[in-house]
Parts: sequence; C-alpha cells; structure tokens
Amino acid sequence: MSTNEQNGAGEKQVSGHYPVIIIGGGQAGLSMSYCLKERGVEHLIFEKNRLGESWRSNRWDSFCLVTPNWQCQLPGFPYSGNDPDGFMKKDAIVAYIEAYAQSFQPPIQEGVTVTRLAQDEAGRFVVATSTGDYLADQVVVATGGYQVPTVPRIAERLSLSISQLLSSDYKGPELIGDGEVLVVGSGQSGCQIAEDLHIAGRRVHLCVGGAPRTARRYRGKDVVAWLHEMGYYDKPIHEHPLKERVRAKANHYVTGRDGGRDIDLRKLATEGMLLYGRLKDINGSWLRFADDLKQNLDQADAVAESIKTTIDKFIDSRCIEAPKEERYRPVWEPSDPVLELDCAPANIKTIIWSVGYGTDYRWIEVPIFDGKGYPAHQRGVTTAPGLYFLGLPWQYTWGSGRFSGVARDATFLADYIEARRDVPTPESARLLNELALGS
Ligand SMILES: Cc1cc2nc3c(=O)[nH]c(=O)nc-3n(C[C@H](O)[C@H](O)[C@H](O)COP(=O)(O)OP(=O)(O)OC[C@H]3O[C@@H](n4cnc5c(N)ncnc54)[C@H](O)[C@@H]3O)c2cc1C
Repeated sequence: MSTNEQNGAGEKQVSGHYPVIIIGGGQAGLSMSYCLKERGVEHLIFEKNRLGESWRSNRWDSFCLVTPNWQCQLPGFPYSGNDPDGFMKKDAIVAYIEAYAQSFQPPIQEGVTVTRLAQDEAGRFVVATSTGDYLADQVVVATGGYQVPTVPRIAERLSLSISQLLSSDYKGPELIGDGEVLVVGSGQSGCQIAEDLHIAGRRVHLCVGGAPRTARRYRGKDVVAWLHEMGYYDKPIHEHPLKERVRAKANHYVTGRDGGRDIDLRKLATEGMLLYGRLKDINGSWLRFADDLKQNLDQADAVAESIKTTIDKFIDSRCIEAPKEERYRPVWEPSDPVLELDCAPANIKTIIWSVGYGTDYRWIEVPIFDGKGYPAHQRGVTTAPGLYFLGLPWQYTWGSGRFSGVARDATFLADYIEARRDVPTPESARLLNELALGS
C-alpha cells in the first residue's frame, strides 16, 4: 500500500492503494473478503455503517429467515447451530454474521461511506470515501440487491393526515400509531408485515399484487429441501426459462415464523384481514384498486400447486418413499370486490409501502450500466476490467442474493480476481475479461 500516489485527476493525495477494495460489509462483502484472504489477496472493505447493517436496521423486530438455517452456507462458515431446519430470528442472524467476521478477522473499515467510484486514465479505480480517496486495482461492489424500498409516485397524492412508512422502516405493531393499517404489496415482506400486525390484533388492509406463493412443507419435507434435492438451487440463470428476466420477479411468499408455515391470505381474510387488488390510484384519502384480487390469489395458489406437482414428479421418478398429501383447497373467495375506499371513514391512519426494492448506483461513474440502470455483467464480472458485483439477486443462481449461493459466486470471483492480479500486462488482463464475458 502506498500513500503518496495521486488520484486520476492528479489533484489530491490518496489515502491508500490496494490490490482490491470491497464496498459493503454485509454477508456478500464478508464472503468476498474470506475468499480473497484464503488466496492471500490483499484487500480492504469499506462499510458505511456496521457489518451486517441491513439485517440490524432494515428488518422488523419479529423478522426471521424464510430460508431454513441449513441454507446459511457462508464460505468457510456453514450454519452449525442445533436447529438446521429452523429459521433464525433477526438477532441470531446478526450474531451469525458477527461470528463469521470474528472467525477470520476481515480487514474492514466500518463507518466509511464510498461516495464515488471512478477510473483514472491508467484504468485504476478511484474510490472516494467519507475519509479520503483510495486507489484500487480491482473493486467488488457488494452493496446489496435490496437497497432502496420502492415507493410509487402516487404516494405523493396521499392525504397528509395519513402516515406513510417504508417496509424497511417498519419495526413492529406497537410503533404504529392507532387506527387501521393498509399494507401495499404482497411479496415476502408485505405479507409478513401484514401478518405481524394481524397477529398483534391490528385491523389490516392488504393490497394484493402478483407475487407468487409457495407451501412451506409438502409430502414430509420443507419445499426448500425438495428443491435442493432436485438441483433447483444449482441451476444457473442461463438455464432458467425466464433467463435474465427472472431477476425482476417477486419472491414467493411463505414464512419461517413459529417454526415455519404457509402464508395463506385467504385464511387471513376469514380471520378479518381485508384484501384488495393492486393499488391503482390515490386521491387524498381515496384509494382505487384494480379488479384483480381473485386473479392474483388464484395465480399465487397456482404457482404453489405447480411446485407441488414438480415435487410429485420428482418423487415418482426416483421412487422415493414420501407420505401422500392432500392438495390445497381455497378456504375463501373474494366476492363483490371493493374497488374504491375512503381511508377516513375506514379509520386507516397508516400506509406501509412494500412494493419491492431498487438500487442506487448513482455514485458509480464507470459506464457499465444497461438502459435500466442495472450493471451489465456475467457472473458478476462487468465490462470494465477489474470491476465486479457480488450479492445481486440471481447474479448466477437462485441463491446468489441469499445466504445459500453467495459462497459459490464469491469463490468464482476470488479465483478470477487472483488470476487477473497475476496476469502480466493490462492487455492480457483485458483479454481475460473478454474471455469471461464471452463465457
Ligand atoms: C426483507 C428481506 C428478507 C430476506 N430474507 C432472506 C432469507 O430469509 N434468506 C436469505 O438467504 N436471504 C434473505 N434475504 C436476501 C439477502 O440475504 C439479504 O438481502 C442480505 O442482506 C444480502 O446481503 P448483502 O451483503 O448482499 O447486502 P446487504 O446486507 O444489504 O449489505 C450491503 C452493505 O453495503 C453497505 N453499503 C451500501 N452502500 C455503501 C457505500 N456506498 N459505501 C459503503 N458501504 C455501503 C450497507 O451499509 C450494507 O451493510 C432477504 C432480503 C430482504 C430485503
């Protein structure tokens, strides 16, 4: 590391020059660090808050994993607790990440925000941070695939008398003021937050969108365990029928709460939760919904049942002994759907937005983005030699943005980074990059 080099513009002293800088100290950044350390590649991680910050600050109090504990397979640190089929709660997840860091002592600087990433004329990366400028030969962006909760601009038309909250700011029912609550979005977070409020005895209204669902268990096992046995989690994105479009798909809703169970919105409706179709428009305290509640519930169930059919076929083809199980029968049907609602007489005083997440890469000034602002890459390798991403949803497989698949991607990138570090000239490094992108 040297401290007397200058950044690309030749104006400012740099605080350090590293072979590799990793941006983000969540599970992806730590996994990358572990794999580089194993290979003896010098590096530094910048984390703007604390390591594992998203799990600490952006989840609600009763949060627990949706994926079983045995899927926590960080490189060199697989889950070793006594409840592999259970679902860790928020504090246990944070403890798992802290223990991971403890196990290999990554070189991390917490409380340091990367404010700008650019390249100088020599192709080196200029990493501007809240504590100074650094140079890096290679950079891994591991800032998470679920960075900024999306809020549609119709939210601006909501009456000021109604509080608005992002799903990442929701902590628990006791912190929501009095009155009824409307949750917009029925993906994993929306359904779980609606259920959390419902269990606490709050009157909940839920706008149901097109997210699919899955059963928690089927024929004697967790559905995740069946899919694992069937090799689904090893399937690379180019073998998925939707190819790269799968990255934009909502996750299936199901929960790990109380040891894991289904989320059946129809059942919640029989218990008093009020369901609507997709939220279409807002005018003051008036909300308008699409007439698609039945279609969305039917479609979510159809996906859950089609997963069961795939499992049945697998069981038959392998002559596996597994108990037979009745298929799902809808316990409630929407009749006379509500298409308009005035929040005032309905006493709805809070709206929680849970319609998905976006990313904010405005601080990256390297031309690697596609027309939608998504970083173009092959297995995390971008078109800018030496710049990588890790932890993106479906970066390579289903588990890329999760605990289960990040190890495979980090290992791949670490091998790649090590090979590139050892190539003799910038030209051969460029060729290596082209080879990777063509693969
Ligand atoms: C609600 C929700 C539930 C989930 N449930 C599961 C589950 O059950 N099982 C599962 O396997 N996965 C789950 N995931 C997916 C995934 O495991 C998490 O999103 C996880 O946090 C991803 O880890 P990461 O390291 O890629 O990103 P993050 O954990 O988001 O880490 C990124 C880090 O980068 C830092 N950072 C960002 N920008 C900068 C910057 N400019 N400079 C410095 N640092 C920066 C952030 O502070 C953060 O700590 C869930 C995700 C969400 C949103």
